[in-house]
Amino acid sequence: MPRLVHVIGAGLAGLAAAVRLQRRGVQVALHEAAGQAGGRCRSWYDRTLAATLDSGNHVVLAGHAETLAYVRAIGAADALTGPEEPGFAFMDLAARSRWSVRFSRSRLPLWIADANARVPDTRLTDYLAVLPLLFAKPGRSIGQIMPCVGPLWDRLLRPLYLAALNVDPRDASAELAGAMLREALTIGGEAFRPLTARNGLSSAFVDPALRMLQHGGAAIRLESPLNEIAYDDAARRAVALDFDSGQVLLGADEAVVLAVPAAAAAALVPGLQTPQRHTAIATLHFAVEPPPGLATPMVLVNGTANWLSASAGRLVATIHDAGALLQLAPDELARRVWADVAAATSLPVEPLPAWQIVSDTQAVFAAEPQEELRRPAARTRWNNVTLAGDWTATGLPATIEGAICSGRKAADLLLS
Ligand SMILES: Cc1cc2nc3c(=O)[nH]c(=O)nc-3n(C[C@H](O)[C@H](O)[C@H](O)COP(=O)(O)OP(=O)(O)OC[C@H]3O[C@@H](n4cnc5c(N)ncnc54)[C@H](O)[C@@H]3O)c2cc1C
Repeated sequence: MPRLVHVIGAGLAGLAAAVRLQRRGVQVALHEAAGQAGGRCRSWYDRTLAATLDSGNHVVLAGHAETLAYVRAIGAADALTGPEEPGFAFMDLAARSRWSVRFSRSRLPLWIADANARVPDTRLTDYLAVLPLLFAKPGRSIGQIMPCVGPLWDRLLRPLYLAALNVDPRDASAELAGAMLREALTIGGEAFRPLTARNGLSSAFVDPALRMLQHGGAAIRLESPLNEIAYDDAARRAVALDFDSGQVLLGADEAVVLAVPAAAAAALVPGLQTPQRHTAIATLHFAVEPPPGLATPMVLVNGTANWLSASAGRLVATIHDAGALLQLAPDELARRVWADVAAATSLPVEPLPAWQIVSDTQAVFAAEPQEELRRPAARTRWNNVTLAGDWTATGLPATIEGAICSGRKAADLLLS
């Protein structure tokens, strides 16, 4: 077991690795390129709306065991909140129809036998169409192994797979879609109870971890990008880390968890294959009080926005696979999305409330079969270097659960 581990990157993968290592008695030095920790999952103060905003409308599910174990480990379990019952509210913006899907908590998917709980206009037998996903082989897309038509597809599968995989679901990896389905069948409907960060992403996932690490004696270095790793190929070890501030020589009892995005890792690790294509997510924050009793998170179908959530003084809409829509002028995009949000909340379309767009054109790797095949394992050919990040081969989509799972795995490999 190493004495000291340098964790590079303080996104959730790096934080999860650092917390795991410190809890096992390993000394941690956390190096982050940016001026703050959290990576793609964090909060900041926005002057336009005079409010703290999150880097996206992050939803996790009650079935995400690694995420729940992580927030418990950092003492932030009560920072996640959600409805009591598993399920989602839906609205079809074109047809102006609303429905909700209420999953049964049991492992047996009894909800599909209940016409009031299942998707409107579907029959019990329609649900058998998803079974091929459970046996999906690597390299296949959802569209290649199941029919992507009909009310079950349009009203449940397409919107949920779009949110989880952030690509056109017909082209998405059937293997990843199957993994999500398997999880639901193993855990039951509880797997689909949505949870969000009560007081913002940083207060749930980042700040408590930093406090715990600092308290435990970890060195936390912000604005400290790693520029290069020197390797000794014969010894199969990394031997030095080059930062702006100088070189750190690695002792025989020191190791590295590299928890940076795919492109940064490819530049630091010779011969590393990583996913190449990434897709965008746009989040539109509107400064308006949500109407009382509004059921959120709400899945939006046949509109510009795909997802709606609410917090005190704010309605937040998400557009998945948003690359094409980000070509629009920002105020046109805000108007279009506000029209969807106004319809979903029964608020007036005029006046347009104060808004802010947060967009990330490289939000997550495109969860398509060919990209899935490019995800590397946590282990590298250097014995003291492991990889973490939502883009590594976790078997999960690029999510908080995937990032935290990857960090835990990268740490465990060094511990063993
Ligand atoms: C808009 C948006 C919405 C999302 N919605 C959801 C959702 O609803 N549910 C969900 O589960 N997931 C969601 N995700 C995905 C989730 O945010 C990510 O999967 C997760 O945050 C990735 O964490 P990570 O640690 O793997 O990567 P990152 O967060 O990218 O962390 C990598 C860190 O490495 C640092 N770094 C880079 N280069 C260097 C270097 N050379 N030296 C040192 N540090 C370096 C970066 O600054 C960064 O802090 C969303 C993502 C986005 C962008």
